[in-house]
Amino acid sequence: MERRKLIIVGSGIAGAATAWSVAQRGGQDVLLLDGATQPGSHSTGRNAAILRTAIPDAALHRLARTSAEFYRQPGAGFCTMPLVEEHGLLLTAKAGEDSENLERWITNPDLACPAEKLDFHAVRKHHPYFQEGEGSAWLFANEGGIDVHALLEAYLHGASQRGVEMRTRCHVRRLIREGDRIIGVETAAGPILAEQVVLATGGWASLLPEELQLPLRFDARRRHLVVTAADSAVNPHAAVVWNIGPDEFYFRPESGGLLMSACDHVAVAPALGEMLDRDVLPDVAEKALRWLPGLADAAFANAWAGMRTFSEDHRFAIGPDPRVEGLLWVAGLGGHGITCSYAVGELAADWILNRQSAHPSSQALHPQRLLMNREQLQLAQH
Ligand SMILES: Cc1cc2nc3c(=O)[nH]c(=O)nc-3n(C[C@H](O)[C@H](O)[C@H](O)COP(=O)(O)OP(=O)(O)OC[C@H]3O[C@@H](n4cnc5c(N)ncnc54)[C@H](O)[C@@H]3O)c2cc1C
Repeated sequence: MERRKLIIVGSGIAGAATAWSVAQRGGQDVLLLDGATQPGSHSTGRNAAILRTAIPDAALHRLARTSAEFYRQPGAGFCTMPLVEEHGLLLTAKAGEDSENLERWITNPDLACPAEKLDFHAVRKHHPYFQEGEGSAWLFANEGGIDVHALLEAYLHGASQRGVEMRTRCHVRRLIREGDRIIGVETAAGPILAEQVVLATGGWASLLPEELQLPLRFDARRRHLVVTAADSAVNPHAAVVWNIGPDEFYFRPESGGLLMSACDHVAVAPALGEMLDRDVLPDVAEKALRWLPGLADAAFANAWAGMRTFSEDHRFAIGPDPRVEGLLWVAGLGGHGITCSYAVGELAADWILNRQSAHPSSQALHPQRLLMNREQLQLAQH
C-alpha cells in the first residue's frame, strides 16, 4: 500500500503555499492531491486578484503585510515576473459615518499600512467615469493587483523542484481513521497512508471530516464578479477602487474593461458555490450605474461566481485538529486567501514540521486561533 509522510488535500493557493513552505524547509515525501483537472481551478482561479493589506482584524492584517513584503521581493528563483501590480489601491467611503469609520481604521497602524489621504474626487483622476459624490479616499500606493496565476505556479513549481509530487484528478473520498488517529485518505485509485493529512479543501473543508463525526463549521459564501467589455475610457493601469461601508462595491481594470463586484455574500452549499445566479446581475448593474455613471453604456462581457469560505470567527483555521492525531487544517481563508497565502503557508509549515509555530505573525494568531478552534469544536459538538 502507498505510504507518505504528508498528504495535502487541495491544490488551491492554501495547499500550494503549504506544500511550497514545507518543501522549502526540507520536508520530504509530500503528496499534493486535487480532485480537479487543474490546480487552482476553484476559488484560487475565480477571485478578484486584489492585494489589499488593510484588514480590520489585526492578526489577519499582519499576515497580509508579511505576505505582501514577500511578494514584492520573493527572493531569487521564486518567480521571474513581478507578482504585484502596484497601480495603487484606493479605499473610499461616503461622507459622514462611513468616512469616519474608514479614517479610524486606516490610521490605526495595527490594521493598515500607511496610506495617503485624498479627496473623494481624486478617484476621478484614475477613473473619470466615477460618481461625483462626497466622501474620503485613501491611497495605498504600492498595493493593487496580484498575479494569482504566477504566484500559484511559483508555489507549485518550487514545491515540485524540491520533491513534492502532485496528482490532479485525484478526488479524496474519505479520511481513514484508526482509533484517535487519521492515518491516510481513500481515493478512487485506492488508499494512501500518511503520518499527517492536511485539509486545504477551500469551500469543501467541512465535508471530509463530517463523515467521521469531526465537524468544524465553515460557511461558504458565494460572490459574483462581472467584467465589462473593453472601453477606451478605462486606463488599464488605473488603481483598484474599493468602497467600504453598507454600499460596498469594488472595481479594477481588467482586459480593457472593468472587473467589478457588488460584494454579494449569499450562504451556499459548496456544490452550488460556483453557480452563476443570473438574478444577481441586475444588482451589480444597478450598483455599477450609481458608482460609475460615466460608464452607463458599458456592456457586460463576462461574469462568474466563487466561494469565500469563513470559519465562525472569520479567522483562518490553520493548525492541528485537537480531537485526532495526524489531521491539520489550512482552511477558512475567506476573502483574503490570495493576499495572505505566503504567511498562511509559513504558519501551516510551522505546525506540520515543528508541531508549533514560531512565525512572527503567529504570536498573536496562534494561541487565540487554537483556543478559538477548540471553542468552535465544542460548539460544533453540542
Ligand atoms: C469572488 C471572489 C473574490 C475574491 N477576491 C479576492 C481578492 O481579491 N484577494 C484575495 O486575497 N482573496 C480573494 N478571494 C478569496 C480567495 O480566492 C480565497 O481565500 C482562496 O482562493 C482560497 O484558497 P483555497 O486554496 O483555500 O481554496 P480553493 O482555491 O477553492 O482550493 C481548494 C481545492 O481543494 C480541492 N478539493 C476540495 N475537496 C477535495 C477532495 N475531497 N479531494 C481532492 N481535492 C479536493 C478543490 O478541487 C480545490 O482545488 C476572493 C474569493 C472570491 C470567491
